[in-house]
Amino acid sequence: MPAPTAGAAAAFAGTVPTPASLPDSAADAADLARRRALALLAHERLCALYGAPFRFFSVKDPLSELVSAVLSHRTRNADSHRAYQQLVAALPTWVQVRDAPTAEVEALISPCTWPEQKAPRIQAILRELTDRLAGQLELAPLQALLTELPVPEARAWLETLPGVGPKTSAATLLFSTLRRPAMPVDSHHHRVAQRLGLIGPKVGTEASHALLEALLPAGWDAQQVYDHHEALMFHGQKCCYFRSPACRRCVLLDVCPTGQQLLGPPAPAPAA
Ligand code: SF4
Repeated sequence: MPAPTAGAAAAFAGTVPTPASLPDSAADAADLARRRALALLAHERLCALYGAPFRFFSVKDPLSELVSAVLSHRTRNADSHRAYQQLVAALPTWVQVRDAPTAEVEALISPCTWPEQKAPRIQAILRELTDRLAGQLELAPLQALLTELPVPEARAWLETLPGVGPKTSAATLLFSTLRRPAMPVDSHHHRVAQRLGLIGPKVGTEASHALLEALLPAGWDAQQVYDHHEALMFHGQKCCYFRSPACRRCVLLDVCPTGQQLLGPPAPAPAA
């Protein structure tokens, strides 16, 4: 497998080491450099293939995006969208959602998976936010806080809310009108990254967030992080399928160990 040739060294000048990115040995450092170059190469090819820059699909404020992200967990987009619309149509303020009978919230979000878990979770999040925001569940102070905190701290703050993990915290910061450079990893993105060898075969989706983010240049803005996520997600949806990935037409085949293993060694050239 040829090594990626993208100008990774320049791209990573000034990258701030994180616990997930600190190598233990020279061999680890070389492996990290290889995976960073591969991530950048995949980014360049997939962004070109799928037409980046991609338009942000959401114009929700961060509180609405947070609730929407909880609803979307393991749920088809159309179903979580319907659940969200039913919820905000019946209970137009987050204070009303917080204080409604849980059974009512559960019924309103029934199009999504596990409404019986998500309804009490959403209300617990809203109650906890109310406590943290000095008793007032208002958008302005939450927006100010999540804008002022550095991204890692903003993520950590969100991830101490009940049931909020790295995908939800990143979605809240990146997809909402805050547009902050935090990268969510969905199942498609995760599958492509794993097959490329950007992360190990046993790394789960939650743990993959810190590892994959550590492969990106530290100075990337929200659009670049969004493009990276969207490009890898599109590739999982349109080519690197869960079953039977279309490796023969994949633009990453020459750098993908999984694709090369699935297709076997190339046929020998015909004798002259
Ligand atoms: S070569 Fe195959 S396994 Fe590798 S990224 Fe492409 S479609 Fe996925």
